[in-house]
Amino acid sequence: MKGLVWLALVFVAAAEAERFFNGDQVIRVNVRSEEEIRLLRALETKEEWELDFWLHPVSTELPVDIRVPYASLSSVKEHLQAHSIPFTVMIDNLQDVLDEEKTEMEKNKMQERNTRSFNFGAYHSLETIYSWMDDLVARHPDLVTKQEIGRSYENRPMYVLKFSTGGSKRPAIWIDTGIHSREWVSQATGVWTANKIATDYFKDVSVTSLLNNMDIYMLILANPDGYAYTHSADRMWRKTRSRNSGSLCRGVDPNRNWDAGFAGPGASRNPCSDSYHGPSAHSEIEVKNVVNFVKSHGNFKSFISVHAYSQLLMYPYGYSCHNVPHQRELDSVGRAAVQKLTSLYGTRYKVGSICNIIYQASGGSIDWSYNLGIKYSFAFELRDTGRYGFVLPSNQIIPTATETWLGLKHIMEYVRDHPY
Ligand SMILES: [Zn+2]
Repeated sequence: MKGLVWLALVFVAAAEAERFFNGDQVIRVNVRSEEEIRLLRALETKEEWELDFWLHPVSTELPVDIRVPYASLSSVKEHLQAHSIPFTVMIDNLQDVLDEEKTEMEKNKMQERNTRSFNFGAYHSLETIYSWMDDLVARHPDLVTKQEIGRSYENRPMYVLKFSTGGSKRPAIWIDTGIHSREWVSQATGVWTANKIATDYFKDVSVTSLLNNMDIYMLILANPDGYAYTHSADRMWRKTRSRNSGSLCRGVDPNRNWDAGFAGPGASRNPCSDSYHGPSAHSEIEVKNVVNFVKSHGNFKSFISVHAYSQLLMYPYGYSCHNVPHQRELDSVGRAAVQKLTSLYGTRYKVGSICNIIYQASGGSIDWSYNLGIKYSFAFELRDTGRYGFVLPSNQIIPTATETWLGLKHIMEYVRDHPY
């Protein structure tokens, strides 16, 4: 009996053990030809090297970023050299960066406890973000409410913040952040943005007129299980945490799981892949909860999904490279939004359809929302362009959120002024 309990504890410990990335490097290849893209794509299927593509090989326009586990470093580098493919090392030792990130978070936690304040320029755990939401609602009871739209696979509540000055089912704007859990600047930008909307109401003419006509809904932790897991076990986790039958690998890419070209190109059928589309469309409860909520609301006019990284503002489609009927309008709204964003710090963004600007990717959220009739569907890829990638230093959170706000605000104003 005692032995069994002990064994069970060992298994629990093993399941919860934190993953380390000692000596892992993130390398960048600036691909120059279709031949090089083909060679790099072959690496994606080379399972024994366990490569983690932060940016996939798709076109000669975009770099390829690969996290290479320490154990595969020499093989990968030799392979690239043998094919005369030049590369640069972006992150020399990923664990060093993660250690720094962790130290900073702990320092900040103490500071927040001592000063009883919330630092928007820091990364936070799920629990801290959830309790901050309650504070926000308490401070702005006439404007902000918190609504549970369902539970995650691991039974965490999924909360939507609703910003509303009244009316019933007014035309509304949807913003979600953090559907891919490791893209931490996305969730942090969501937190900052929610606070900005709440504090700007009444102070800022534009936000005030927006909220006098429309509601805003924000889902800041769109993948709560994944987010908790990036804090407790694996900082590089992207997917949900659901179990896959017939596989030891867990999780589905929640942005390949929507009913829009489901299981088409740009999604993987392999449960171990980071872009696994799942057994069926909306199989992930986190996706299903949003689908049900958005459908039952029935009056969303804009659907904005926030990711990182690459500095892109995109519109549908991802699953097809054909232009959507509103391509010209979406493109011009996107360009104007990016102009506003860039005006603050000069951060450069590219604008285009997902398929044309990154790659054909099926089962994405904004394709689904667009096909549902939500014309103003956009996806952001926030900072940076790869110097830090998913481990963007926290001192860039507020600048990122502040510039993004200008772009978001432009889209929201446009939606307000172009009812349909
Ligand atoms: Zn993403």
